[in-house]
Amino acid sequence: MQDNYGDETKRAAAAETGGPDVPAVAKMHEARHGHIKFAKSDGESVEHRTALIMDRPELPPCPACGNIANEHDDKRCDWRPGVYLPLRSVTDPSDVLCFTGNGLGARRAVAQLCRIYAREGPDRQGKSPTILLETRSFKNNAGGTTTWPVFKLIGWDYFTPGVPAPQPRPVAVPIAPPSPRPRKRGVDHDDDIPF
Ligand SMILES: [Zn+2]
Repeated sequence: MQDNYGDETKRAAAAETGGPDVPAVAKMHEARHGHIKFAKSDGESVEHRTALIMDRPELPPCPACGNIANEHDDKRCDWRPGVYLPLRSVTDPSDVLCFTGNGLGARRAVAQLCRIYAREGPDRQGKSPTILLETRSFKNNAGGTTTWPVFKLIGWDYFTPGVPAPQPRPVAVPIAPPSPRPRKRGVDHDDDIPF
């Protein structure tokens, strides 16, 4: 299933390294991933091709060049992988925004939260994870500093107060294991960081 993320992305206030500084409840059953093509000029519009992670746990290949994220050549293709996770404020359920990110760190953070959400465990009765959006930084191979988002799980709550979310189905890990083939140098420095 593919869909446009349209209006909610326009309202997106959280970028990869920013976000709510208050606890937020994550709408895991509407977390999406896919690809985005940013507008290069005023006349162009942003294009999205996304799928629900619960429906399609593996990041789909790039809709333009057909490559998977690990092998994507960002110099030749304008599309970028992206993740979208609706969040709401714990204190104000009507205060909803969408966490978005295009880097490996954002994709891994969402993947990790999906794994936690899909895990068999105590009956959470349709509750969604309550998180703090934190960041962590490390030196990358290019000599700079990379900052990744971290979702710190602090509890469980209904995304819509009193309304249980659909039961999560066990999902595979959205991030593919490292490719056995050697990577092109300089394409994705972040990939070398151990978790
Ligand atoms: Zn591409």
